Amino acid sequence: MNKKGLQTTAIHGGESPDSNTGASSPNIVMSSTYVVDEPISFSVTNMDEQTPLIYTRWSNPTVRQLETKLCLLENAEQCIALASGMAASAGILFSQLHTGDHLVISNTNYPGTAEISRDLLPANKIEVTPVDSSCLDEISNAMRPNTRIVWIETPSNPLLRLADIAGAAEIAHAHGAILVVDSTFASPVATRPLELGADLVVHSLTKYIGGHGDALGGAILGSSEMISRLREFGVMHYGATISPFNAWLIMRGAATLPLRMKTHQENALAVAAYLESHPSVELVRYPGLPSHPQHDLAKSQMNNFSGMVAFRTKSPHQTAKTMMEQLEIVHYAVSLGHHRSLIYLMDSNDLVQSSFKLENKELAKYREVAGEGIFRLSVGLEDSQDLIDDLGNVL
Ligand code: PLP
Repeated sequence: MNKKGLQTTAIHGGESPDSNTGASSPNIVMSSTYVVDEPISFSVTNMDEQTPLIYTRWSNPTVRQLETKLCLLENAEQCIALASGMAASAGILFSQLHTGDHLVISNTNYPGTAEISRDLLPANKIEVTPVDSSCLDEISNAMRPNTRIVWIETPSNPLLRLADIAGAAEIAHAHGAILVVDSTFASPVATRPLELGADLVVHSLTKYIGGHGDALGGAILGSSEMISRLREFGVMHYGATISPFNAWLIMRGAATLPLRMKTHQENALAVAAYLESHPSVELVRYPGLPSHPQHDLAKSQMNNFSGMVAFRTKSPHQTAKTMMEQLEIVHYAVSLGHHRSLIYLMDSNDLVQSSFKLENKELAKYREVAGEGIFRLSVGLEDSQDLIDDLGNVL
């Protein structure tokens, strides 16, 4: 498809009417194996994009359609869709880092990624330096001759800190490392990290791209060369294949991503402004508010401020209890990016001890924003006034 607008791309990208039946909506191909008419090698090292379909762990027509749509949305040469966002992150970290290598990573991010980097990588003799990636100097100072990957998440879990993607790419490349961006909170509607110099982009498709809270998925996007290498060992042998049914659901969700992101932003701005004016709310972080410490970076790097809002109340555990008992519309549940609004208390003791393992200055900086705990609110697509009323009743 020639280059088209974002909404057209989201709807038609990767799809076309079925050549046998004329079906307008994509088929779901659930077959795990394919009948072939020539002998084909069993080794992933002998496969390329032209290899016929053989086995769904290696490739599947429905998954390929989703991968093509995501490439077009993210402006990437190639994409691998996987069973979850964690499969995407683990696939990169475990296939690209080897004994003696060094990783520089945001010191607050999705707890699963944080735990891989704090626990599993060092156990495999990979050195890890967590940094506050909202500060380019910290990234720069952490670089070593053996640094292979700089990993940032922007906006990040749960404080909505941003990282300057172009600046981080420049630092990584000057040291012979690659930059990986977990862009789940932004979605390709808000930010396209590859255009800013990143080498790989990671998404939890479970979130904004799928958008309806009914299918887990993940994706890695980048150049053909990097993705081909990852596909061989970081994907096929680890076996985290996405179900074609989930790929189909996510593809259907992705068709409305640009439209949904407009409303996520509109609603989040209204809810964040309301929270900021509420006497029971001590602090609000939303990249679209002038009060966000990196609002200027948000304006330059994000075409949409997305729907994630973080806020703090005086007695967060009591507030959380009241929310569980009294919220009528917003679901008290983890995850984000769905059409339904979701809220969850990100308990500071739990996160800083178990996941982030923050100490000293970094711990103090975290607590200054999050206190005992910060609410992560994923503002959905309901009427913003209903969300405001629901939260207002509790606050
Ligand atoms: N990255 C980010 C930023 C996330 O928020 C999450 C999940 O919440 C993940 C990765 C992991 O994705 P999944 O739950 O699809 O494995």
